[in-house]
Order: sequence, then C-alpha cells, then structure tokens
Amino acid sequence: MAPKVYIETVGCQMNVLDSELVAGSLKRAGYQLAADLATADVVLLNTCSVRQHAEDKIYSTLGKLRRWKAKGSGRIVGVLGCMAQKDRELIRQRAPHVDVICGPGQLARVVELIEEARRSGTPQIAVSLGRAEASRAEVADSFESYDPLREPAMRPNRFQAYVRTQFGCDKFCTYCIVPSVRGPEQSRPPEHILAEVRQLADQGCKEVTLTGQTVNSYKYVAGDGRIWRLSDLLYAIHDLSGIVRIKFITNFPRDMTQDLLEAVRTLPKVCRYLHVPAQSGCNEVLRRMKRLYTVEFYREMLARCRDTIPGVAISSDFIVGFCGETEECFQRTCKLVAEAGFKNSYIFKYSPRPGTKAYDLFADDVPEEVKRRRNNDLLAIQNRVSLSEHRRWIGRTVEVLVEGQSKLAHKRGAIHGDRVQLTGRTMTDHIVVFEGPLSLTGDIVPVYIEDASSFTLFGRRLGPESENAHRGLESQAASEKRSAVAARVG
Ligand code: SF4
Repeated sequence: MAPKVYIETVGCQMNVLDSELVAGSLKRAGYQLAADLATADVVLLNTCSVRQHAEDKIYSTLGKLRRWKAKGSGRIVGVLGCMAQKDRELIRQRAPHVDVICGPGQLARVVELIEEARRSGTPQIAVSLGRAEASRAEVADSFESYDPLREPAMRPNRFQAYVRTQFGCDKFCTYCIVPSVRGPEQSRPPEHILAEVRQLADQGCKEVTLTGQTVNSYKYVAGDGRIWRLSDLLYAIHDLSGIVRIKFITNFPRDMTQDLLEAVRTLPKVCRYLHVPAQSGCNEVLRRMKRLYTVEFYREMLARCRDTIPGVAISSDFIVGFCGETEECFQRTCKLVAEAGFKNSYIFKYSPRPGTKAYDLFADDVPEEVKRRRNNDLLAIQNRVSLSEHRRWIGRTVEVLVEGQSKLAHKRGAIHGDRVQLTGRTMTDHIVVFEGPLSLTGDIVPVYIEDASSFTLFGRRLGPESENAHRGLESQAASEKRSAVAARVG
C-alpha cells in the first residue's frame, strides 16, 4: 500500500507554497496525502524561524511526534524549511528521533531523503550553504530552483494559488533571518513563471498571487538581453486566459517603481491592492533596522501610489519594541498609522533571532510588557483607521471572489434555506461576508455593501437585474483600462 504523508505548515505564504510543491512531488513518487496524523506513515513539519514563538511550537510538536513514532514501525518524521536550514545541529540534539532535515533550498530532494531514511534507518540531512560559507554565486547555486508540478489538493481551494517569482532576499534588514535561511535573492525565469501560471489556469485556478520576499524588486535578464521587471510579468500573465485576478506580495518601499504602479492602474485583472511594510514610523529605528528609507520617503511613496492608482488599498507591517525604541519613537509610529489610511496592518512584537545583525549588535532593551502594551495601542489605532476606511465602502457595489463558507459566524440575523454566510475578497483585498449558497464558491459575484467592521465588509448579493446594471458599470471601467493597455502595448 502507498505510504501516507501528513504535512503541517507553519509560517508565511512561502511555506504554504513550498508545502504544496513538496506534496506534488511526493504524490508523483507514489505517496498519498494523509488528512491527519493518525493515518500517516510520514509526518513533515514545514517550519518558520521568523519568531521564537514559532520555533517553540515546532519543538513542542516534535516532542509529541517522538511518542507517535514509537507507536508504529517505519514511521518517519521530517523537519523542512527555515528551521532546518538554520538549526540542523540543534534539531539533532533536541529531537534525535527526526529522520529528515531539509532546508528550503533543497526541497527538490525531499522524496529521495525520505526513501533513504526509510531504507537505511539513518537520519538524512540536506541544507544549502550559509551566506558566509562561500561566494555569493556558490551560495546561490546551493539553493536549488524548484519548479515541480502543482498540487491543488494542498491548497485551501482550487481557484487561488501562490506563484513564486523569487527566492531569497538581499536586503539584510537587521532583525530578519530570511536572508540567512532562504539565501541570496534570485528571480525565476519568466518563462518558468508563465508556464506555471498556464498550468494553474488549466487546473481551474482563477486568481494567482505572485510571491517574493521583495516581489517588486523582481529582475531577470533574459538570454536575448531583455530585462524583465515585475510590471512586465504582470502584462504577460494578464494575457493568459483563465486567470481573472492577479495580486503580488510583499513589496519593499524603495522598489515601488512607477512602471509597476502604472501596470496596476492599467491592467484590469491586477488587484488594486499593495502590501508595503513600513515596520516603523521613526527614522532612528528604521536606520537601526537598516530598512534603507526614511519615514518621509515612505510617506512620499504612499502618496505616489495613491496618485497613480485611484482607489488603491494599501496595507502594512509594523514591528514594535525593536531595540532602542523609545516612547517618542513609538509615538511617531502611532502618528504614521493614524495618518496613513492603511486598510489593515500586521503588527508584531520584536523577537530577537540568533543569526541576525540586530541580535549581535543591539540589546533587546524594551521590556516584554512594554512591547505588549505598544502592540495593543498600535492595534487599537489601526482598528479605528480600518473601521473608517471600511465604512467608505458602505453603499457601494463590489465584485467578490467567493472563497467559501465564513469560518466566523457573524451575527447578521436569520440565514435562509440552503444559504450560508459566504466569505470572499474584493479587487482591493477587502474581506466581504454575505449570505448565499455554497455553490457560489469560486465565482465572482456583485455584492452591495451595507455595513462594515474594522475587519470585514458585510453585504447583500445583487440579484440578476441589478447584476446586469452592475456588469454594465464594471465593463465600462474594464474597457477604459483595456484601452489604456492597448495604448501601452501599441
Ligand atoms: S526585505 Fe528585510 S524583512 Fe523582508 S525578507 Fe528581506 S531582510 Fe527580511
């Protein structure tokens, strides 16, 4: 009988995508995907190193897996991803029952490593070179490109998928472990990306999200000397039939070029949504983070995004309690959040990571309770901003790509017949909840917005009559965008 593998994923969208790619290669090698631990022969943990909390959870899970492994013969435990790259020795010491340790640059070898661990009964380790161990080119080579077939069963749904544009990062923000564990920044060849999107479209995928640690710094010099930027990729993907929505995350503020903003404005399929982490509103903290921009630059960049793309929604990330962040510094961050009009912000407490410059150079001198208080304060400001940003949508009609039944039961009165509370997203990445049949999942439907909270828009699906009227408006807007495309391509 085919061995069954269970994959648990922690961390960012890169890991979600990596798990899908690993599942695809395991299925091709004859493995089946297990729905849970109880039925699995192989358990793989795809790990994250960005925060200590994530690592602590993995070690706790590995403790439980020691008992799971002891209960059946031939069971295999694997640790994949960033922790495997960063802490292979530590994992061996703390969890000697682990059979496979495989860094993110070696995932193409997962099948081979599992087979060898099963055959030989000895632990198998595959990691890439560390940044200081060899030249940039040698280190880059040791992070293998990985372009296997896509595995829809590993995605939350078949009509949305991540597509990688780059590996690694060269920015070296002082708090961040990513450049060490994911290696040098390398852009994938555009023909590989386009082939993957075509394959996804053939599988029924409607929305692709292009991912990269700094996706807007994508740059590839083709054999004919042509330089491909992210904007060029957007134009090329836009031409592929079947794909109706295109997003990209995450952007680096300094690389938000005008050609990219104009592509977002021009291309009807590209979502009017930008995620651009600011991290702090204080120049001194930004300098210590080595973010390579000032608050003034960031504000100017926001203004340029909004001038170029009318109606664009922008979200951000912030770290509170970074080394040396005084109350005054923090108040500057509060001011930025209060004024910038972000749709939402992801706010994190600073967590020192061994292997980063900040860990070596600066004292983690903001007490935990101060970090917690600043986190709550900043979140409260963002929630107020989000609520007023969301309320602007009341009385408007939006197009929602329906993702399925809402996991949260929102109190919105009685639900009728076979209807459920559906959730989906707009072209500006706003979450919308409305009532309808589950069969709408995967469709794009017009929804009239009636109410809003800090996190969600609530609406009513428009009936066929109003739907046609709405389509009229949408097609007029789309045709304006299309004329702009024709003008640019011509
Ligand atoms: S840009 Fe900075 S925060 Fe983002 S992955 Fe690179 S080093 Fe980390």
